Amino acid sequence: MANLSKRLQTNAEGNFFVDSTCIDCDTCRQLAPATFVEDGEYSTVFLQPKTAQEKFAAYQALIACPVGSIGVEKKDPEAFLKAQASFPLQIEGGVYYVGFNSGKSFGAHSYFIIHPDGNWLVDSPRYLKQLVQAFEAHGGIRYIFLTHEDDVAEAARYAKHFGATRIIHQADASAMPDAEWIIDGNDPLNVEPDFVCIPVPGHTPGSMVLHFQRRFLFSGDHLWWN
Ligand code: SF4
Repeated sequence: MANLSKRLQTNAEGNFFVDSTCIDCDTCRQLAPATFVEDGEYSTVFLQPKTAQEKFAAYQALIACPVGSIGVEKKDPEAFLKAQASFPLQIEGGVYYVGFNSGKSFGAHSYFIIHPDGNWLVDSPRYLKQLVQAFEAHGGIRYIFLTHEDDVAEAARYAKHFGATRIIHQADASAMPDAEWIIDGNDPLNVEPDFVCIPVPGHTPGSMVLHFQRRFLFSGDHLWWN
């Protein structure tokens, strides 16, 4: 939980604040762009949320923050629980942004794909009972696709609980050496009719992206600012 004594001076006066433990991962700015902006090496509260929707989004950001850098001076348990229950967050159809980003993967997003032939988790969130139950309610996890070595986080725990097959590229496999499926080479690989695993060495030698139904591209850090 954020520490008021570490509150950044840049925060707008008011209830929500970011403290100096922020790792500048961008999650809050994506979830609540009306409230959070980047300022140097941190995020900060640019405008305090005014509407109910802005407050809801700010609480979603507080919950998703991988390192607990967002705090409130006055807690609103009802708003907190409502935002917490909104994860995983539907993007479209059976594709969800999971939330609860993990500090172990520098705040990377993870995604859940519901599919009749078995569900997929793309990279790993924190390991939480709420998420385990949410995945169970949709039939569990068959595959865990790991875009690259930095974002494995709690994949091993989810794999063990659900008996899932972890997929990682050989060049990044030192991060998950006991993965059930290690892909080699640079050729795209079709898995089931709807999924294509595509090696994209660059950000790391074993980076891969996942193309789903020719509509979604889970790109990991392939499109990153390095
Ligand atoms: S989500 Fe947390 S760690 Fe990430 S930029 Fe926002 S305050 Fe910083």
